[in-house]
Amino acid sequence: MKTDKDGLYDAHVHLQAYPKAILGSVMRRSRSAGVVRFKCCGTSPDDWDEVLRISNTEEGVEPSIGLHPWFVDEVGDDNWFEKLEEKLEENSEAGIGEIGLDSTRGNLKGQKEAFLRQFELAIKLKRHVSIHCVKAFGALTNYLKSVADELPEVLIHAPSMSLETWRELEPLGVMITIGPRVLHTASLKVSQLAMEVDPDRVLYESDSPYTCVHKCSVAAVGGFNSPETLPLVMAEVARLRKVKDNIVAVPPQ
Ligand SMILES: [Zn+2]
Repeated sequence: MKTDKDGLYDAHVHLQAYPKAILGSVMRRSRSAGVVRFKCCGTSPDDWDEVLRISNTEEGVEPSIGLHPWFVDEVGDDNWFEKLEEKLEENSEAGIGEIGLDSTRGNLKGQKEAFLRQFELAIKLKRHVSIHCVKAFGALTNYLKSVADELPEVLIHAPSMSLETWRELEPLGVMITIGPRVLHTASLKVSQLAMEVDPDRVLYESDSPYTCVHKCSVAAVGGFNSPETLPLVMAEVARLRKVKDNIVAVPPQ
């Protein structure tokens, strides 16, 4: 699902968030950089149609739609859930995402309700799920454990979690993505995950046009981050793993 001879997979992007005028150029530049598959995640009913449209018109774009935790409080549409269910039934390839929990922003109680409804739908329709989780890993881990027997494919997007938390999630078979934060020397937890998590459980993402850390701003596409930065992220993870492998354990005296 990640790197194969056919090209690289960007496991979390928001192509719908680019100004329409530059999307064509973003796609061309990304493909020239070797990125040929994209998991494009929606965030609210306002962008689901655009995510589905891009996935129908651009080659290699796989859609996911869902209500992001940041937008739970402000979703204007009372029927958002019914609409989501309808669109998922019409689009059998679509996953559910980006959904999740973020205790640093908004009301966690409302977020939990929205997350559980969407996750139960993913179980019912057997769809993969892209999860956003910030400082709510206890609640997320407990929930995922409670549905361990029926868990769909789960991808936790660019988590900043401790290795202890990962060790709890690992037996559930979930995967994580590593994104541009690994290029940021201050992201120790992310670097540690990059070094310690079994590579078979890791995919890579650009999260573009967001997560625009200094090395990911592409002047040619208006200074936004772009999937073309994915090889930088992957190279940094490879470097970190190598550093770790070269640490020689010193026997106790
Ligand atoms: Zn995202």
